[in-house]
Amino acid sequence: MAWLHRLRRFVRTLTGHLVIGGMLIHALLIPLLFFGITVIVKESTQVRFIDQIRSDSWLFSRLVSRDLSRERVQALLDDALLDGRVVYAEIEMDDSVVTGKGSLPSTGKPFQEDFAFNQHGDSVYYVAIALEPNHGKNKAVLKLGYDETPTNEQIAKTFEHGLYLALAYVLMSLVFGTYMGAKLTRPLRDLRDSARGVASGDTEKQLAVNTTVSEVASLAADLGLMHRELVRNSKDIAAREAYLQAIMDHVLDGIATLDRHGRIFSANPAMERIFGYSHHELIGADITGLLTPDAFPDLQNAREDGDVALLERLAIHKGVIVETRGRRESLAVFPMEIAISDMPDDGHGQFIAVFRDITQRKQAEEELKELQASLEKRVIRRTKELATANLRLEYQALHDALTDLPNRVLLKDRLQQAVQVAREKGHSLALLMLDLDHFKEVNDTLGHHTGDLLLQLVAKRKKSLLRETDTLARLGGDEFAVLLPHVSDVREATKVARHIISALEEPFVLEGHSFRIGTSAGIALFPEHGPDAATLMRHADVALYVAKGNSSGCSVYSADKDENTVNRLALMNDLRRAIDEDELWLNFQPKIDAATGQVSEVEALVRWKHPRRGLIMPEEFIYLAEHSGLIRPLTAWVLEAAVRQCHLFQQEGIKPPTIAVNLSMHNLHDAQLPEYIARVLNTWHVNPGNLMLEITESAIMADSVGALDVLTRLHYMGMRLAIDDFGTGYSSLAYLKQLPVDEIKIDKSFTIDIDKNPEDLVIVRSTIDLAHNMGLRVTAEGVESRKAWEILVEMGCDMLQGYYITPPLPPEKLKEWIHQSTLGGSRPFHFPRRSSGGA
Ligand code: C2E
Ligand code: CA
Ligand code: CA
Repeated sequence: MAWLHRLRRFVRTLTGHLVIGGMLIHALLIPLLFFGITVIVKESTQVRFIDQIRSDSWLFSRLVSRDLSRERVQALLDDALLDGRVVYAEIEMDDSVVTGKGSLPSTGKPFQEDFAFNQHGDSVYYVAIALEPNHGKNKAVLKLGYDETPTNEQIAKTFEHGLYLALAYVLMSLVFGTYMGAKLTRPLRDLRDSARGVASGDTEKQLAVNTTVSEVASLAADLGLMHRELVRNSKDIAAREAYLQAIMDHVLDGIATLDRHGRIFSANPAMERIFGYSHHELIGADITGLLTPDAFPDLQNAREDGDVALLERLAIHKGVIVETRGRRESLAVFPMEIAISDMPDDGHGQFIAVFRDITQRKQAEEELKELQASLEKRVIRRTKELATANLRLEYQALHDALTDLPNRVLLKDRLQQAVQVAREKGHSLALLMLDLDHFKEVNDTLGHHTGDLLLQLVAKRKKSLLRETDTLARLGGDEFAVLLPHVSDVREATKVARHIISALEEPFVLEGHSFRIGTSAGIALFPEHGPDAATLMRHADVALYVAKGNSSGCSVYSADKDENTVNRLALMNDLRRAIDEDELWLNFQPKIDAATGQVSEVEALVRWKHPRRGLIMPEEFIYLAEHSGLIRPLTAWVLEAAVRQCHLFQQEGIKPPTIAVNLSMHNLHDAQLPEYIARVLNTWHVNPGNLMLEITESAIMADSVGALDVLTRLHYMGMRLAIDDFGTGYSSLAYLKQLPVDEIKIDKSFTIDIDKNPEDLVIVRSTIDLAHNMGLRVTAEGVESRKAWEILVEMGCDMLQGYYITPPLPPEKLKEWIHQSTLGGSRPFHFPRRSSGGA
């Protein structure tokens, strides 16, 4: 039946359609045409036949009717039958019938006149014509029969030809139709083939076809356009697809599409990396296989319930990131995040699931937690350490390192509190200031180590005499204070003071030596002697000052009894103002070089012009300044004024421009002093070499360690240092040797009477020799007479200073004096030089 199939297929083609169409048209048209034409041909042939018959028969009748003799008639009829067309000839007359020879009786059918072709079914056309005899005879009738067969045969032939013609026509139109169909369908087929090629991916295929059919050509052109569009779009799509694929391939998260039953439909490479399954294994696998049984309770329950559309039950999780646990192919469990969401525009109920391996993040979080915990621990530990260190520092700030007793700061604090309490409760308190009497000597003779040990013993003994509630404090050096927070009256306080004094009179035994040390005590009471801590401390100090001067070694503060003290206190307040308001000035006393007789430097000595009391000398207020904290601003003022004066001297060309400034013991505890001096020198453009500093021997001895540090720094800055009042401080020259000093100034108590006192002479001579041996220069101060000058120069003193030369002078006077002295003879004094010492 293959041919049937082929036929059917052919029928469906365009050619088939054309052929069938053509055939249908011809099936209707051709019979119509064929029969129409044949009918017309038949009709006309028959008419022509009948016309011919009529005219022939009438002519024959005319011929016959001329003579109706029998013989003639017979002969005519016979002749007529010879024609062949005539098959029957007879004349009927009144009396007889003449029949031509060979007439057809054989047809069997009797004469029946015809008026139409093929009438009466005898195949003969019978005609009867009445003959009019011209000689009066009875009428006669001519009967003729013409054969219809040749005409019928002619008609049949015409039919046959018409049929052939129609068939030929059908055939030709079939051939033409097929040809035309082929002409039309070939380009269409070509187009179809190339379109198929294009569709199957052959993008190079051209859609142009070789055709003259304009519709097909334009169709091809349109398809060509569409094709190019398609190619471009598909390139775009391919690029986009590649782009998306690249993302899917390289994204770190596992991405899978799932069907409603939780089966994996597609998976990206990350899924393989995360779960360890191959792509092949993943596709179609159940999502629950990638999770631990407890991971996603809803999912598992749904599965166990036999709920196929389980993912729909996960609606609550859609789009929400859920932290859970995944299971790899190796069955290893790991922390994972999963988010399930609907596939957009998807009618198939698919879902997108995103899986993220958060193992590293979890580890990092764990590590962070651990770090945090350890950090917390460290912070706590450090805080504790800091707190302890703080406590220690606080303790150190409030206690004396040597004796572990409260220091001045803590004492002040406790005193303030005690005053507060005493004021509230309405009772009295007492503050005792204590000062060892001969401590310096111990320190100097036996060294600082022993001095320190002694101070510790003193502290211990004092402490043992006091109550738990009393405060014993060390204020510095050999100064102590005792706070008795609750006393009934002055007598009780005095009793405690005396008790301490007498206890300290008992000798101390140290390293096999026995020491006796005296103590003085000043007492101030609240509220009698002051309303606050500061006043009480100042007044107890004043009382101690008084006690040092009397024999009992103990004194209670009394404003009326000690006018002098009150004055001093008032003065202390005034000094504060004096420094600020320029009531101070400097006088300068020259030092003469024994070798040259020239002024080698000038010493600055401070003066105070009190608005009410007039001129006050330093001896009176330096001590006050040292005991009231004013020594720092005072020294600062002097230094600045001296350096400024030095600058002025330099500008005016006055030589020598070196100025000596006196420093107090307290200044040597000021670690900022060197920087301050450097700043001042810098401000006034004065060289450190043009500044000399004089420090009393006792100041250095009182606190040699602290002093040494400041002295060393000053020395390295380039300043010269001198030990003032040498001989009064019991210091050993061996110790001085360790200090960075350049010069000693022999105290004026040894020089004033040198010409009268042989003892002084011996001391000064040996001091000068020793100092020279140690490489120190020696200045003698207090040179009051020519005699003393001569002796000192003769003994090798390097420089001299004293009223004999000139008392301290204000700057203007000094300039005048220097001017005169350089003029030689016009000056009141002549300074002999060393070389001419005795003269
Ligand atoms: P000093 O450093 O020993 O100064 C020498 C003192 O002796 C001066 O007394 C001076 O006027 C006096 N003088 C000078 N030549 C003779 C003399 O030939 N015979 C007698 N008897 N005395 C003479 P001044 O100016 O009253 O100073 C007293 C003390 O005050 C100074 O003793 C010094 O220690 C201190 N001083 C003076 N100015 C300052 C200062 O600016 N700062 C500090 N910290 N102390 C100063
Ligand atoms: Ca001095
Ligand atoms: Ca002096």
